Amino acid sequence: MNSVSALLTLKKGRERSLLRFHPWIFSGAIQSIKGEPKEGDLVCVQSQEGKFLACGHFGPGSLAVKILTFEEQDIDENFWRERVEKAIELRKLVGLWNSDHTTAFRLINGEGDFLPGLIVDLYNDTAVLQYHSRGMINAENEIVSALLSLSAGKITTIISSSLREGPVDKSKDRVRILHSTNNAPNLTPVISESGLRFEVNLKTGQKTGFFLDQRDNRRLLKTYSSNRDVLNAFSYSGGFSVYAFAGAAKSVVSVDSSQEAIDLLNRNVALNFPAGEHTAQVADCFEYLRQIDGKFDLIVLDPPAFAKHTDAVDKAARGYQTINEHALSAIRSDGLLFTFSCSQVVNVDLFRKVLFSAAANVGRQIRILRQIGHAADHPVSIYHPEGEYLKGFLLHVT
Ligand code: SAH
Repeated sequence: MNSVSALLTLKKGRERSLLRFHPWIFSGAIQSIKGEPKEGDLVCVQSQEGKFLACGHFGPGSLAVKILTFEEQDIDENFWRERVEKAIELRKLVGLWNSDHTTAFRLINGEGDFLPGLIVDLYNDTAVLQYHSRGMINAENEIVSALLSLSAGKITTIISSSLREGPVDKSKDRVRILHSTNNAPNLTPVISESGLRFEVNLKTGQKTGFFLDQRDNRRLLKTYSSNRDVLNAFSYSGGFSVYAFAGAAKSVVSVDSSQEAIDLLNRNVALNFPAGEHTAQVADCFEYLRQIDGKFDLIVLDPPAFAKHTDAVDKAARGYQTINEHALSAIRSDGLLFTFSCSQVVNVDLFRKVLFSAAANVGRQIRILRQIGHAADHPVSIYHPEGEYLKGFLLHVT
């Protein structure tokens, strides 16, 4: 059991967000700390009047506590089992847990599964843990045993994959095998998504290996791809490219700055289709998008997060505006643009304004067909809008 190492008292009135189940406490809200908590320790929080509010993992930065519970309860084996069980129940509800045609999905989505600081993605029988707090690293044993005992044999290997640029675990190897029934677990599995096949590199890939959050949007793109010349910009391992072929695209061009991503993408296209009119290119998309005039009638723009912090928002907005302006001006008439931002600090209103400015500068008739986002295995607490990092629009250009 994890014992409580400190009691934090909040400044007057600063309990309001907690009473609404917002799962973070910033250091500016704290009046006093009884005890000397270290990073990752379990701490509890009370209001100025001494009313119990919550318990969670302590962090030394401005995000001082990530809340695990709003109830007075022990953070013990049962706690972890209950949270993991709830996460599995939700994946059953959304039809992923027992699906044959989709074998990779997010099993635990941090705050959205009431486990701030923990991501667990499942690739066939392998669960990949990614930590965003020291507290979750400390709870590794409890998390692993809950996953193994509740998955009814579905999970046979568990690895941890800490963020390379993340705040924690810099000293350790990125990938550690925490449990496996195989002597040599396969770290480059081929998964199925909507019946299509993708090789995923759990060791060196981006995120935990695949952009699971785009699943529904890839499926949507498939329904619009027929007979279109498609550009998949910032393609990574070719998720959108493979779905475009599945939707009978006339041709697909995939562009990414990473050679490793393009190599994987070529293997993924070949895994699904013998031969299509496909070009994969290692290039900077900012450069590439300058010279595409009239070549495409469906474009995907899914760049990496341009802003990781609030002080980079303006620069990120300019980046989004530039690429969208290029795409909106160069796309053929009756064209479709799937455009995304995964920067947490660029909210949907700002992204929409950026698209508005890009459109206005281009001066064409542009309509929003759909607003899109992450799939249902990436739940977002309504009280924690910060969790809604992936924003997308499907635009029609007359
Ligand atoms: N759409 C993809 C995920 C894209 S992630 C999917 O569904 O799987 C963003 C990708 O952009 C990464 O693969 C990264 O290598 C690439 N990237 C980053 N900066 C780039 C640039 N300036 N030009 C081209 N690609 C870039």
